Amino acid sequence: MIKAGGTIGILGGGQLGRMMAMAAAQLGYRCHIYAPDRESVAAEVSAEFTCAAWTDEVALARFADACDVITLEFENVPVAPLSVLEHKLAPHPRALEIAQDRLREKHFAQEFGGKPAPFCAVDPVDGLHAAIERVGTPGILKTRADGYDGKGQWRIADARDADAIRLPPQQTIYEGLVRFTAEFSVILVRGQDGEVRFWDSSENVHQSGILARSSLPASDAIVAQVDEARALASKIAAALGYVGVLTCEFFATESGPVFNEMAPRVHNSGHWSIEGAATSQFENHIRAICGLPLGSTATTVPALSMTNLIGEDALTAHALLEDEAAHVHLYGKREAREGRKMGHVTWIPLS
Ligand code: AMP
Repeated sequence: MIKAGGTIGILGGGQLGRMMAMAAAQLGYRCHIYAPDRESVAAEVSAEFTCAAWTDEVALARFADACDVITLEFENVPVAPLSVLEHKLAPHPRALEIAQDRLREKHFAQEFGGKPAPFCAVDPVDGLHAAIERVGTPGILKTRADGYDGKGQWRIADARDADAIRLPPQQTIYEGLVRFTAEFSVILVRGQDGEVRFWDSSENVHQSGILARSSLPASDAIVAQVDEARALASKIAAALGYVGVLTCEFFATESGPVFNEMAPRVHNSGHWSIEGAATSQFENHIRAICGLPLGSTATTVPALSMTNLIGEDALTAHALLEDEAAHVHLYGKREAREGRKMGHVTWIPLS
């Protein structure tokens, strides 16, 4: 167990780290952020900041010495240099290795009975046409690694579209387009003793590949499929000896839940838990990695929704406070670039 006053290291300096650090402070911990970008909004609310490259093993080793436990808020961290801090890292880097590669991730989920969309790795020799022939159209070409918020994705309506696409230098995967009724995620926390708790699954709506809105209660189509999705997520967590918050994203379809991807971390679709659950995803993640008892994940309000503030939406966000239902979170990012997650609002109607 990490005692109050102990130091939690966080790999990554974005908004997830910022909200984790705020939850850690409530429990009496200090946070130390490790990130390569000078502008790291998590560092602004933390005691220490190491600004160094992901591959700087000297800086990583020094960071490890300074922390009692280390976690992450960003999964696209090169895994090999993490061996110097692996003994303190939760979750284990194996979870990272799987989540970083869409192909490995789908195979891994299949091992536990998960059903992903039809997929095929794009072979550099046979090319995209061969993959389209196997999977069919419509579909989506995705980079296997480093994609997020719809980046590194190309929609393909027809095999002829493939000619217009210049394959990126990275490895890619081609997936069939899933005709879904709704999207949802399973967010769980797993303690050091293997205890697992789930938050309610909100209904997630994406626009241009970015989460726009999460709401509760979710539609019946989701509620009917949550148990099957939870069973898969907890098998994945157990197989990885996972400690902390794990997210698995699903499409609700007429033939049951289709596994999309996993994130070895707290998730945007769980931000509502700060105001809407007995214990937020951020607090329970901190509790899990520090060996404290897990808190209740129960939803405490009858209905809520969370909307992301993207780009310039954030500039007028304080005006939203006129509505007493609005709980505004701004991440402190200086530049409101298009498509950039700047904050979110959780709407909880007053009863
Ligand atoms: P991802 O980066 O894989 O989470 O994709 C971002 C969003 O694009 C998803 O949440 C869906 O809205 C959409 N999407 C991704 N893959 C598929 C698919 N195979 N079929 C239908 N929609 C998809």
